[in-house]
Amino acid sequence: MPDTLMQTYARQPVAFVKGEGAWLYAENGDRYLDALAGVAVNGLGHGHPKLAKALCEQAGRLIHTSNIYRILEQERLAERLCALSGLERVFFCNSGAEANEAAIKLARLHGHHRGVENPAIVVMEKSFHGRTLATLSATGNRKVQAGFEPLVTGFVRVPFGDAEAVARLSEQANIVALLVEPFQGEGGVNIPEADYLRRLRTLCDANRWLLMLDEVQTGIGRTGTWFAFQHTDIVPDVMTLAKGLGSGVPIGACLARGVAAETFTPGKHGSTFGGGPLACTAALTTLAVMEEEGLLRNAAQLGEAIRTDLARRLRGVSGVRQIRGQGLMIGIELDRACGDLVARALARKLLINVTNDDVVRLLPPLVMTRADADLLTRELADLIMDFLG
Ligand SMILES: *Cc1c(COP(=O)(O)O)cnc(C)c1O
Repeated sequence: MPDTLMQTYARQPVAFVKGEGAWLYAENGDRYLDALAGVAVNGLGHGHPKLAKALCEQAGRLIHTSNIYRILEQERLAERLCALSGLERVFFCNSGAEANEAAIKLARLHGHHRGVENPAIVVMEKSFHGRTLATLSATGNRKVQAGFEPLVTGFVRVPFGDAEAVARLSEQANIVALLVEPFQGEGGVNIPEADYLRRLRTLCDANRWLLMLDEVQTGIGRTGTWFAFQHTDIVPDVMTLAKGLGSGVPIGACLARGVAAETFTPGKHGSTFGGGPLACTAALTTLAVMEEEGLLRNAAQLGEAIRTDLARRLRGVSGVRQIRGQGLMIGIELDRACGDLVARALARKLLINVTNDDVVRLLPPLVMTRADADLLTRELADLIMDFLG
């Protein structure tokens, strides 16, 4: 591998040159079944003709003008996202970390407006919010933080899924917000109890804290609803999006409602590229295709089918701790570290991921077919049984 790239990744030794649906093709023509979708990015799969056409047309018209001017595609996308989510205003950026940076800045500014001098944000153990200094400080994983001290202060950490632990912070007067993933992705596909978000909502209301949901991974249909909070009857004050939003064209968004939507004023935050015509066209097309092709329903039903099928194939296999997930965000927890499974799967032309050391993670494209899912569960169950020996 070339020596001219900074050594930030332990890459698999394969390069893809084209794709179609849930399939990727390597330089030598070999084809791979993609159960990772560029880490929850390629919801429409690869090579979607409608997306390619919309991007070509937009690129021919206009790629960038800057936020010094109105951007019509950005205004249309904001309206669409607000209609889908029930939130009221959107700030656009280029990644998940940036979306969370916006949320963190918003929470602090809101705190200062409330007269809180040292505003703090409640965050969770095993969380992941990004790699910038503020977001890695918010992240609940020492591996992400180690070596980058001094960290950004102003975060209070509690265990994920434990509403009682949050309730015990009610006395702490400088807390202004809570930042939490509805379902944790990088932390091992962790699904809290069904009433967790509602309990957090109640605590936030009682204490005048902003409830800020990091839906960078769970948003845009991944879990079978547009946003994961829609599995409940609550609405957050702030929500961040990125991964699936632009189907691979970089775009992030920070949505807000109520007082949170009125916090930023001109000069307080910004982005050169954020919400440009090309990225917003990618997102508008993604949302339109998802509706046309019924991808929310597919994510819900196919995810259920994959989990049921894996449970059947792996029943009684010792070493398999739990199969869990929601929609097409699926984790298979083993009783041992299983990072080797990624290379073993690659050798069998299957793209999967391992997170939190011992959780096989599947994030298939939302367009995956039942036939491809059958192939996936058959191959993966074999691989896991082989691995556990
Ligand atoms: C991937 C991810 C991020 C970071 O997104 P980037 O686009 O890599 O900056 C933040 N939060 C969650 C929950 C994620 O899964």
